[in-house]
Amino acid sequence: MSEAQGPRLLIFGKQGAGKGTQCVRLCRHYRVPHISTGDMFRAAVQSGSQLGERLDSYMHAGELIPDDLVIGVVSERLSEEDAARGFVLDGFPRTTAQAEKLSELLAPGDVDLVLSLEVPTEVSLRRLAGRRVCRGCGTNYSVHSPPEQGWECDHCGGEVVLRRDDTEHAIARRLKLYEEQTEPLVSWYQEQEKLVAIDGIGPLDTVTDRLIRAIDRRWPTDQVRSAS
Ligand code: AMP
Repeated sequence: MSEAQGPRLLIFGKQGAGKGTQCVRLCRHYRVPHISTGDMFRAAVQSGSQLGERLDSYMHAGELIPDDLVIGVVSERLSEEDAARGFVLDGFPRTTAQAEKLSELLAPGDVDLVLSLEVPTEVSLRRLAGRRVCRGCGTNYSVHSPPEQGWECDHCGGEVVLRRDDTEHAIARRLKLYEEQTEPLVSWYQEQEKLVAIDGIGPLDTVTDRLIRAIDRRWPTDQVRSAS
């Protein structure tokens, strides 16, 4: 039997392009889970586990976590029941090995659409400098649009802080790795005619509308994918 499905989406964009915020909105709209490798790894670090300690040393320095570790975590997450309805995958794949593994994991199916949220590097740097994040639920804020009450999250009351890897050194390293390792994947998906580039400049609602319009052109909301 077929059941109503949401799209399987990947989202690319430089750090500070607004991916995290837009993913939350897309997931609410399409009722699919937001699978963010960065969020999963930050949760592991916060748990204080041994794995978390190992991950923290990479993340703090702005380095990529080794592929085998990342692939293991993502394979497990994609095999959970909710991911069968569709998903927005954020922060993965970041390397060729990860992209190849993702194709294998989804075979004989594939992702429906790959979104590239585009902003100039100077905008991304400016946004990162002002970014603040809730320690509890991960909601993003900025010094220009802080929480309503002090630095307490509007959603969960958690402490809103500077992300540990939003230091000048780690930001420079993450942007360089994005250019070197991840941007070639954007071209790879473009060759497969899966990619849509979206202008990430403008009010949040405008950018969300652009994303939804682009997705609905390729994935009408009444579309049903046969459960495989
Ligand atoms: P993000 O929140 O997506 O910017 O990710 C934060 C950090 O988590 C990155 O700087 C990496 O250290 C690590 N990370 C997240 N996703 C991946 C991935 N797919 N491959 C390797 N490292 C990752």
